[in-house]
Amino acid sequence: MKVLVPVKRVVDYNVKVRVKSDGTGVDIANVKMSMNPFDEIAVEEAVRLKEKGVVTEVIAVSCGDAKSQETLRTAMAIGADRGILVETSEELQPLAVAKLLKALVDKEQPQLVILGKQAIDDDANQTGQMLAALADLPQATFASKVEVAGDKATVTREVDGGLETVALTLPAVITTDLRLNEPRYVTLPNIMKAKKKQLDTVKPEDLGVDVKPRLKTLKVAEPPKRGAGIKVPDVATLVDKLKNEAKVI
Ligand code: AMP
Repeated sequence: MKVLVPVKRVVDYNVKVRVKSDGTGVDIANVKMSMNPFDEIAVEEAVRLKEKGVVTEVIAVSCGDAKSQETLRTAMAIGADRGILVETSEELQPLAVAKLLKALVDKEQPQLVILGKQAIDDDANQTGQMLAALADLPQATFASKVEVAGDKATVTREVDGGLETVALTLPAVITTDLRLNEPRYVTLPNIMKAKKKQLDTVKPEDLGVDVKPRLKTLKVAEPPKRGAGIKVPDVATLVDKLKNEAKVI
């Protein structure tokens, strides 16, 4: 059984991003980039399924410029068997990525596609859902537990106020939530091994996909700055301020 794992190169989650002075976006020049954390969880899950003997091949795929090769090498160091880079310098929106992934699903015929539930840069939470629709596959989003047996997957999902368990017939699309697993540390020997693994590059045109953006970002703004705090002399003043100024009690 093949598993396809889409991995996105994003600004590292520890970086405090700055909005460009002209408000057109976020400044990512000279900023540390890493694999989207939810995608690391997706790779880890696919590799664990391989280690259990359920899966035979884990294919990582990244869509973006040539630097996304680094992200694919990280996926291969975690344990993916090979990588596919869909190389383009165009800005990619979730619909374009979903179409590229649909073309790769047609080509590779995986039984499972495991994506992150959302990319921490655009916070879209759309790609997995759009892929499932385009490929006409069942989907289970926000997975906190995945079990695969035969041609069925049982997925526990984190929903408001509890957990929902659903059964899917493969092939299917799953998106990962934070508590699905804790990705392993990538070791130096595995980084070295990953350098020798197969990495193919294709262009969106090769897959017959038009990736032109369908949305235009009008403005990006910093969140409002937090005002300075004050000291209150006693509890009565605090309660009074919470009631009459902040109006939170
Ligand atoms: P989003 O819909 O943008 O929040 O992204 C959800 C998931 O789709 C991510 O966690 C990735 O698994 C996948 N994805 C989004 N963009 C890309 C990309 N450029 N390359 C590979 N996978 C992506």
